[in-house]
Parts: sequence; C-alpha cells; structure tokens
Amino acid sequence: MKLFSGVLGSSALQNYPLDYCIPLYHTVSDGPLPHLKNLYRYKSVKAFEKDLDFLGRQFRFVDWEEFTRYSDTVKRPEKKIALLTFDDGFTEFLDVVVPILERKGIYAINFVNPAFVDQKDLMFRCKASLLAEELLATDPDLGKLKEIPGFQLSGRDQLIRYVLASGYKKRAELDAIADILGLYFSDYIKTHKPYLNLEDLHQLKARGFGIAAHSWDHPYYSELTPNEQIDSTVKSLEYMKLHGFLSDGFAFPFTDFGVKNEFFDRLFSDNKMTCSFGTAGLKKDSFSRNFQRIPMEHADAASTLKRELVYWQVKKAFNKNIIIRK
Ligand SMILES: [Zn+2]
Repeated sequence: MKLFSGVLGSSALQNYPLDYCIPLYHTVSDGPLPHLKNLYRYKSVKAFEKDLDFLGRQFRFVDWEEFTRYSDTVKRPEKKIALLTFDDGFTEFLDVVVPILERKGIYAINFVNPAFVDQKDLMFRCKASLLAEELLATDPDLGKLKEIPGFQLSGRDQLIRYVLASGYKKRAELDAIADILGLYFSDYIKTHKPYLNLEDLHQLKARGFGIAAHSWDHPYYSELTPNEQIDSTVKSLEYMKLHGFLSDGFAFPFTDFGVKNEFFDRLFSDNKMTCSFGTAGLKKDSFSRNFQRIPMEHADAASTLKRELVYWQVKKAFNKNIIIRK
C-alpha cells in the first residue's frame, strides 16, 4: 500500500485535487432523533465543531455569492474554498447549527423540501425510521397487516428490513402500515416538529444563511421519469422564488445517480440556474455546473477527506473520477 501511505500519513491535505470542497451534513444533535436514527449517523455538537475546525484549516469557507462567482471563472482561488451545505431543512439547523456557525463566522446553505416546511408531512425515509423504531420497541400484532392487499411478510425483522428498503413510490404503503399498527406520523410531527417552518427560513435568510431547493418531497430521482424529475425540481425552485430564497441552485435528493444530460439541458436552458449538487464525494462531473459534495456524517472530517483522497487516487488510475452522463 505504498501508493497511499503519503496521502494517509499527511496531516494536511496537500494532494487535494480540486479547488473546492463541498461538505454535506443533514443535522447536528446531542439527543436522539427517532426519525433519523435508522437512516444515517449525525454528529454531536462537539464532533461537528471539530469538523469545522479541521475544514477551516484546509479551506476558506465562502458564501453562495462567492462560490457561484468562483464557479463562473477559471481563475484558481489562492486558498482552496469550501461551501458548507446542509440538506432537508431540519429544525436543529436553526437551534443548534446556526449558533455555532455565527460564533465561527461560517456561512452555510440549507437545501429544503417545500412539502415538509411548516411540518406539513414527513419524508418517507423518516417515516420508515419511525416505523422501525416502533416495531423494535413494541412488537405489535403483525397479523393485522393482512388487510393490505398482497402484503405477505413472515416476521418483525423481515418487516423492518422491508420498511427501511421501501422506495419513494411505495410511500403510501408506509402510511398504511403505520395506520394499521396505530402509529400516527402526524402526532410525531406535531410533538417533535422535525422541520424548519417558513418563518424560520425567513429568519435564517435575514441572518445571512442560504435557503434553496432540494426537490418537492425528496423522491429517488432514479425512480422518476424524466418529466417527473423536472416537475419536482421546477416546483421546488418556484417555491424558493415565490418566497425570495435562492432559486439559482438545486441539490438532488439522495443522489443524482442515473440523471441524464437531458435533465441538465432542460434545467439550465434558461440560464437562471447557477449550479446543482450531487452527493458522490470527491468526483468531477461531466456536466461542469453539477458539483459533487462530500457526505460528512460517516466519520470525522479528517478521516473522511483522507479516505476520499485515497478513493480519488484509485478512481483516477481507472479514469473513474469523472461522472460521465449520457
Ligand atoms: Zn435530502
């Protein structure tokens, strides 16, 4: 493993290949969040601050205006830049994250689904997480699920796996399962208020933070037809425009995997879009206005970036560090 020892052993990221870094987080919390617990890890306040301190030594944090200005030019910045991004508009962004960022003078943008603003609904993956929690905690009578036509599952563990693997197009079934088991998502939303309200979004904008679109209700784009992809995207962009938030940027929900050139051609055709964002880690994209972000919630920032650098070297050796779209 001589090839990678230099990368892994370095404390700074001298070999970082791009001029920019776009870290991606969802939320930061010291407490349990049942609607996220079975989906991914999120950081404690202490771990998040440690990440920011590490990233701040390697990069210069910039705001949306500066990032988009940079992406418009070929001039290399003197110090590599970082745009801090959050997805899904969770309430801890205002209560936990922003006070830290204001203390440190760091900008961030949050990509939000209008369908969930004001606690109107809960994203289907969050519902799956809650269902899994309920099934583990209460071991309910699953015989009642026979009421759902064609539904056949043998036991609790199988049902948990099924629920956690359910796609966007099966989201109505998650609601049906929850109803039959007596779990009411609306009660959870009312009690826990997982999302930012429209009033919160306006407050965040007034405090200098970015709010932008993340699709209407967080589908897997790979499950959608090209027209459905455009509809969900445009509807969320129109919401941002209507309320005076940023409407020239878009972050794909989950991933942009399989999204074709035709989508980008249509989305960027009127020259109003500045850039879009995927979640593929340290990679370039053949559509140059689509920037790949680095998911940061698996490990501490230093380990994550070092691991991404190793992957980059491996992918580069096979010419796989650029996403080619058809
Ligand atoms: Zn998301």
